[in-house]
Order: sequence, then structure tokens, then C-alpha cells
Amino acid sequence: MAKTYQDFPGVEWVESPGDHIKIDTEKCDGCANCVRVCLAKCFKISGKKAVVDNLDMCMECGACWYVCAPDAIIFSWPPGGTGFRTQWG
Ligand code: SF4
Ligand code: SF4
Repeated sequence: MAKTYQDFPGVEWVESPGDHIKIDTEKCDGCANCVRVCLAKCFKISGKKAVVDNLDMCMECGACWYVCAPDAIIFSWPPGGTGFRTQWG
């Protein structure tokens, strides 16, 4: 069975508020770079455009934003952040 963050004591998952990443569909060219780079599988392609599927596991790494050449990812850095928080800092 696959391990999850819940298997690691001292690690807390900070969930996304659900709206810190949006897609500008006018700018999106459907290249799917965001889909390929996102380890949390937050995006999917629908109708030749990227859509946010689920931000629950977003680590706020910024990789999607970095690889989006048309600048179609609208990233609002959420207060308190998302992703992993550990007791070791
Ligand atoms: S990387 Fe940008 S342009 Fe490419 S599919 Fe994702 S949002 Fe659209
Ligand atoms: S910030 Fe990172 S984890 Fe979050 S959607 Fe973008 S690539 Fe995925």
C-alpha cells in the first residue's frame, strides 16, 4: 500500500484554501506542461485547455507557474501556505 503523509509522524499537511491557482483560459494554449510537471496531479486538460482538477494536495511549489510560457497560471500565494509543514521547520 502506498505511503501517505499520514504515515510520517511530525508531518502535517496544510490543505489548500482551494482557490489559490486559477487558469486564464484566454491565454492557455493547452500545452499540458502544467499537467506534466505537477506531482500533486492538480490539473487536467479539458476541451484543449488546462483546468484545475483538485488543489487539495498542492505543495505550492510554483512549478506549474514556472513552466507556463503564456503566463496563463494565476497564482495567489495563500496566507499560511499549503503543502507540508514539519515539526523540524
Ligand atoms: S502550462 Fe499554461 S498554457 Fe500550458 S496547459 Fe497549463 S495553463 Fe495552459
Ligand atoms: S504549485 Fe506545484 S503542486 Fe501546486 S499545482 Fe502547481 S505544480 Fe502542482
